[in-house]
Amino acid sequence: ERKHRIAEIASSIRVIPDFPKPGVMFQDITTLLLDPKAFGDAVELFVERYRDQRISVVAGVEARGFIFGPPIALAIGAKFVPLRKPKKLPGEVISEEYLLEYGADKIEMHVGAVQPTDRAIVIDDLIATGGTLRAAVKLLERVGAEVVECACVIELPELKGREKLGDIPLFVLVNGA
Ligand code: AMP
Repeated sequence: ERKHRIAEIASSIRVIPDFPKPGVMFQDITTLLLDPKAFGDAVELFVERYRDQRISVVAGVEARGFIFGPPIALAIGAKFVPLRKPKKLPGEVISEEYLLEYGADKIEMHVGAVQPTDRAIVIDDLIATGGTLRAAVKLLERVGAEVVECACVIELPELKGREKLGDIPLFVLVNGA
């Protein structure tokens, strides 16, 4: 049942302390990808949630949103839209900057990929401070799309990233520490 599937997903994620720097508990989803049952269940849990919600866009955040987003988009009959690091997309883009612990980062989206009539979800592997997902939501809202929800495999609840999303709901499969 659902609880068992969630437990298998959680135990398939490897935690690597002090990567990429001291103090970070890195949640490594590559070990989830090695387990077709757990990977399939993760995708299926998102598909079950979004299949009857008239979602027309699944926007995935580079890089690990590119792993979970496409199978979900295909299963629910939605477009997949990559939200990329700067200078990767060849066409005209809009971009959104966000602050990190040290410095700033930016994500970009192709102009014309998303329309004002679109109903979107945003997917990434993990929410920490929420800065990345907030920037992603802003990109979609700037072109007039409705962002129905953000979705992640893992939430680090202590960082309260959920609060940064304001009114946009957040759906996650497991909590990390
Ligand atoms: P944030 O913008 O702070 O919510 O950070 C989320 C982004 O950073 C996601 O794209 C994650 O893949 C990555 N990230 C942040 N913290 C971790 C962590 N502890 N383990 C794995 N990925 C992380």
